[in-house]
Amino acid sequence: MRINCEVQVNNRKLPSLNISNKRGGTRSSLGIGRHPGSKADVSSLFIHLCTAQHKLGTKYKVGGNIEAVFTKFVAEGKFTIRFKEPSHDLCVKADPVLAKTFLQTLKQGIQNKDIEKLRLSNLNPVKQSQVEKPMTKLIIRSKQEYPITTAFPYSLEILKVNNVELNRVEKRIIKLKKLKSLDLSHNTIKELPATISVMCCLTELHLSFNHIPNISPQVFTGRLSHTLHLLDLSYNGMEYLPHTLGRLCNLVSLKIDGNKLRKLPASLGKLTRMKYLTASNNNLVELPGSLMHLRMDTVDVFGNPLSSPLGLVTNNITGVPRLKEITSAYCVQRGLRPTAADIPATLVDYLQAWCKCGCGRICYETHILACISLNLKLVASALAIDTAFQTSAPALAVLCSQKCFDKCFKR
Ligand SMILES: [Zn+2]
Repeated sequence: MRINCEVQVNNRKLPSLNISNKRGGTRSSLGIGRHPGSKADVSSLFIHLCTAQHKLGTKYKVGGNIEAVFTKFVAEGKFTIRFKEPSHDLCVKADPVLAKTFLQTLKQGIQNKDIEKLRLSNLNPVKQSQVEKPMTKLIIRSKQEYPITTAFPYSLEILKVNNVELNRVEKRIIKLKKLKSLDLSHNTIKELPATISVMCCLTELHLSFNHIPNISPQVFTGRLSHTLHLLDLSYNGMEYLPHTLGRLCNLVSLKIDGNKLRKLPASLGKLTRMKYLTASNNNLVELPGSLMHLRMDTVDVFGNPLSSPLGLVTNNITGVPRLKEITSAYCVQRGLRPTAADIPATLVDYLQAWCKCGCGRICYETHILACISLNLKLVASALAIDTAFQTSAPALAVLCSQKCFDKCFKR
């Protein structure tokens, strides 16, 4: 057992000699082990601390030599081991999971339980790579640099792989638990695996200049739907975007320029944190009317036909709405979020499929669909559209009643 961590060694005798102990932590490798061939017993166990300057390391006896182990902050990966001889405190800061595994091994060692079964280090001097700071950023710009036989460092937070003709998002990339920013632009990726939705820290996903014609609705569910801030899908030849895009509740920036999109999902209006929407050079004939509920900084719809004729599209108001619609609208309006534990799972999905009329009312099936003229100046402070004097665009809106329809068309 050996972990890469930061260790501060405090000599408890120094303050009594009026010497300060404050040196700060050093990148180290902390092992627990025994010499090969020695007795499988706590008396032969050592804690082995190595640094870049001292790769041979310092060995601290474990058996009868540990005065205390402080684990109050182990959830943050911090713990302290107090030895009797020498009178050193090792203040350790590591990955929380590694810290817990290390302490578990130490505990079993101290209890002298099944020592032969423990994963122990052989106390050999460490290599330079074991005492280096874990890599958090990796940029790959050529095929030769792309790791094929070696793994990606587990500690990566930023990964950029550009111009290497990568044709899929590999499992080992999805498994990088600390990854915050993934840039796979300028490759030949054809499909996004649905498993990407399990990535738990990803805030930025750059996929421009690939060949992704469409995306599975599952991609924008899961943990990803809460973490993603930036999504760049520009220049992919994309014809369709899934309605689940509206579940990316923390999305701030969406770039979908240079695709073949004719329409955008109505759920876009649910992205209330969105500030930048660039959808230039597509085939958009209209915008989603739900955009009227957003207040953005920039909207770029330059190079789109935006040619849909204004007026009624369908009238689905045939009578009194069903009880299911009325109660679901009530739940949404009151901010109630029942889960599959409270109501049937199909109803949970139904509940999320709401639309909002310009008047603020929540609708489901009972509504009027109409192409209205959307004043984009009210939606964004900076606007890019084909004609300089034009500030409005046709937008497919859901209207709750004939009254709201008449209001839009000023009858
Ligand atoms: Zn209305």
